[in-house]
Amino acid sequence: MSSDFLTLALPSVQELSPYVPGKPVEELAREFGLKESDIVKLASNENPLAPSSKVTAAITEALPDLTRYPDGSGFALKEKLAHRFNLETEQITLGNGSNDILELVARAWLAPGRNAIFSEYSFAVYPIATLASGAECRQVPAKNYGHDLEAMAAAIDDNTRVIFIANPNNPTGTWFDQAALNAFLRKVPNNVLVVLDEAYIEYAEQSDLPDGMDFLSRYSNLLVSRTFSKAYGLAALRVGYAVSSKEIAEVLNRVRQPFNVNSLAFVAACAALDDQEYLERSRTMNNQGMQQLEEGFKRLGLSWIPSRGNFIAVDFQRDASPINQELLQKGVIVRPVAGYGMPTFLRVSIGTQAENQRFLDALTEVLKQD
Ligand SMILES: *Cc1c(COP(=O)(O)O)cnc(C)c1O
Repeated sequence: MSSDFLTLALPSVQELSPYVPGKPVEELAREFGLKESDIVKLASNENPLAPSSKVTAAITEALPDLTRYPDGSGFALKEKLAHRFNLETEQITLGNGSNDILELVARAWLAPGRNAIFSEYSFAVYPIATLASGAECRQVPAKNYGHDLEAMAAAIDDNTRVIFIANPNNPTGTWFDQAALNAFLRKVPNNVLVVLDEAYIEYAEQSDLPDGMDFLSRYSNLLVSRTFSKAYGLAALRVGYAVSSKEIAEVLNRVRQPFNVNSLAFVAACAALDDQEYLERSRTMNNQGMQQLEEGFKRLGLSWIPSRGNFIAVDFQRDASPINQELLQKGVIVRPVAGYGMPTFLRVSIGTQAENQRFLDALTEVLKQD
């Protein structure tokens, strides 16, 4: 008789629900017999622009070196980031996407008997990383879909090692301001690590969102995580980074895989940092697309959660899954968020003008039918 490996797994792993990614275009094409070119995917908060030509050129140039291991220290990228943000290279940890950073944190500081705090309606990877380490999840009820930072600080106990906060948050798009972040950081004991996930921060430039990096010198228990997957348009390559005290970075370095970031991701991330014009175009396209979707929702009499990310959660005030199904039949992939406890919402990533219009036209037809 074979063993039941599920019951042999860590108890917390038995509770864990695996991450559900946005439906791939190929899969929808197969299921509904649609042409891939007729499908619009607005489900994974990907950048709708083509990659920067500086990035594709750098990758092409690096291809002859594929037989070599990557630079395990990530020297060139760390130098560039340090220069850009006025940091020391020893404060930077590179990750295979910023998801890797979240997992490294969990591996280093979480274990059975310990807990991590995060908000209701926050990123699905926080509970996954926590439970995979055997630790307990302390999920704090949200306030108006956003983080209730006061309640999160109040939820800390002697076994709390990590607090995950996202600004702006995914899937809600909600954000908190500088004063709220500062008040929160002042309340958190300095032996509890605060992971400030800024995956979308580049979209929020010149807004009322705080820049997490500004708080590093005051709070030695703060780690800021960022990614090249969103505004920099490199989701396929898996590269992100954390900025923290040198002490925290040194611990993360102990638990990471020796070659956790690949060579093509390194050269691409360096090239992306040199292409500020691409970032500007990402931001402009996102701002325009956000406006386009909000106007469309208004015309359709729908409400939504104001967002500072590259996505928006729209509320149908009834079960959104039949609407999602009908959108899929029309070749439009958005993201159901029932798994996040938001069954009446769909999360829509901001696409190009044409993609946003395709989505709004399909949605208009779907809503007219019932
Ligand atoms: C997309 C996203 C990430 C980034 O993931 P990568 O692993 O860097 O691609 C991190 N945090 C949040 C909240 C996200 O939405």
